[in-house]
Amino acid sequence: MSALLPVEEAQARLLALRPPLAGENVAFCDALGRYLAEDVVALRDQPAAPLSAMDGYAVRCADLPGPWTIAGESAAGGPPAHALAAGEAMRIFTGAMLPEGADTVVIQEDVAAEGGRLALTTSDAIRERQHVRARASDFAAGERLLAAGTRLTPGAIAAAVMSGASQLHVGGRPRVAILTTGDELVQPGRPLAPGQIPDSNGVMLAAMLAGEPARTGLPLHVGDARARIAAALQDLARHHDVIVTVGGASVGDHDHVQGALGDAGGRVDFWKVAMKPGKPLIAGTLGDALLLGLPGNPASAFVTATLFLLPLVRHLAGAAAPLPPVLSAPLAKPLGPGKTRRDYLRARLDRGALHLFDGQDSGRTFPLGGANALVIRDIGAPARAAGEPADYIAIA
Ligand code: AMP
Ligand code: MG
Repeated sequence: MSALLPVEEAQARLLALRPPLAGENVAFCDALGRYLAEDVVALRDQPAAPLSAMDGYAVRCADLPGPWTIAGESAAGGPPAHALAAGEAMRIFTGAMLPEGADTVVIQEDVAAEGGRLALTTSDAIRERQHVRARASDFAAGERLLAAGTRLTPGAIAAAVMSGASQLHVGGRPRVAILTTGDELVQPGRPLAPGQIPDSNGVMLAAMLAGEPARTGLPLHVGDARARIAAALQDLARHHDVIVTVGGASVGDHDHVQGALGDAGGRVDFWKVAMKPGKPLIAGTLGDALLLGLPGNPASAFVTATLFLLPLVRHLAGAAAPLPPVLSAPLAKPLGPGKTRRDYLRARLDRGALHLFDGQDSGRTFPLGGANALVIRDIGAPARAAGEPADYIAIA
């Protein structure tokens, strides 16, 4: 019998099987969720010249407290027509360039303009350079704004656009095939004969991958015949970077994924991980494709997909940190001690506390419907009282 691999070791071995895919250039509007294949370095200063942060008047601080002669205006979009002479104030709007000579903006609420003259109406102190966005105060040309391997969020895309880049170099999108196995499975929504169940894992995995930079095919299904599984694997390996199978990963008489992988000419890298749910997990290669064989129980498939499939896809897509971050929150109720495998317990984080579902059987789908957290209980961890912190992975 092969030994159970610790989760971190299994994850590291899986990711080491293949390097990230080759990168490509994409337009900003296609970049959401992709991983940067190279740093984004500013090509320009932002702002490129001192700008006003408010609507008001540009003045020289030395001229305070006024009054001033109003001399023209500066609006966003182009440089002001002339410099500011001593004793002058220029009408200015948010985002507009300060005229040469000005160093301070007085907001329009603090002044009164009449007959071309401007007077201060506030007794508040006016600070030199107030409401002025200095040149390069956001970032300077040459500054690294985003590191390679960063996931492109809307905010990151905004920073990249402002950097002066014209497009983004991002990691590739792995082609992922989902193959469910099991003679008992019926397409979602179809009538069920005795002994049959709907194939929930196929669409669950497709949904999990929907938010990732992957090209995921519609879930496919084969029964439990080893030859048919082998043929399907061989076929899928020709056009996919990752094949994820569900079910048939264990040692029952009808569990044929491992055997089929060998029949198809593939190789198992590891099998069995010290975790619950999800012990029978197969990682291997078949031609240029990677095979990840998940167990079929709904919670097992979900947990192993969270810990292995998503990180694998992110790694291939160029993520610098592909593993799910581990967070911490207090337990709502006491939790017993850890056992010989690491537990990933379905839970709901509600108002800052982790509530574990009562039924942790890996065959149950109901708790998956309400879970937004997987509480991690390490091998041999001591029992914990309500209120003590527990590690968890956010899954919603
Ligand atoms: P297996 O890993 O094939 O031994 O399956 C373990 C359990 O998960 C069995 O009760 C299966 O009926 C169930 N199961 C397997 N595949 C799926 C699936 N795609 N959707 C829902 N349940 C499944
Ligand atoms: Mg099965």
